[in-house]
Amino acid sequence: MADKHTIHRDHHHFGWDRSLPPVLEVEPGATVEFEVVDASGGQLNPSSTAEDVARIDFARVNPVTGPVYIKGARPGDVLEVEILDFGPLSWGWTASIPGFGLLADEFPQPYLKIWDLKKDYGEFAPGIRIPLRPFPGTIGVALAEPGNHSIVPPRQNGGNMDIRHLTRGSRLYLPVWVEGALFSVGDTHAAQGDGEVCGTAIEAPMTERLRRRRPRGSARILTGAVGRLKAGLHVPYYTSLKGPPGAGPGQRVGGG
Ligand SMILES: [Zn+2]
Repeated sequence: MADKHTIHRDHHHFGWDRSLPPVLEVEPGATVEFEVVDASGGQLNPSSTAEDVARIDFARVNPVTGPVYIKGARPGDVLEVEILDFGPLSWGWTASIPGFGLLADEFPQPYLKIWDLKKDYGEFAPGIRIPLRPFPGTIGVALAEPGNHSIVPPRQNGGNMDIRHLTRGSRLYLPVWVEGALFSVGDTHAAQGDGEVCGTAIEAPMTERLRRRRPRGSARILTGAVGRLKAGLHVPYYTSLKGPPGAGPGQRVGGG
């Protein structure tokens, strides 16, 4: 049986909360397509202006689509997520938000750049093209601690890590803290440098997929995959918390 599912963009939530009912329950090996809302939670659109940036309601930023319950996942397991593909891209935004990001002191006024992402690059200014390397800025699972925990900081559940290398072909290993893992993903970026210096990347709504395979080995590793596999593509692995000896948060731990 082809085990494929779609989660629509209205099935998003704010904060990591183990009490949230899953929007989907899947067997390991299922393919799930996630429609991801942009990091403004739909507050910005292609015709938005800098004035709209100043009015952003931070209670509605950084939604994640999910959560997905993975049958058989238990605390202590490792959830493997393979990032495979994204699309379609149409538009995105980058903003300087007053009081937010490392440039806040130097640029107190709101600024907004709207990107046309219909080609394989975004034009920052005439002649300056940014190649698109889409990835999810926020990808993670529910925390063991009850209550609603902000999505803004990255944590032991992954979350808002903004690791630009989590693009097509990479694999992410997340520790499982609750039954079913309760996986969610959001904050998709069309491209980003090594950090979100102004507080935002090229924030862009898009769709991605996740496929899960059977648990394997005594560690009961669960495998998932986002998008369509591009064979032969290898990128480094990164870890959010636990990994091989010497690997710290966000550090490269392997791959090639
Ligand atoms: Zn973002």
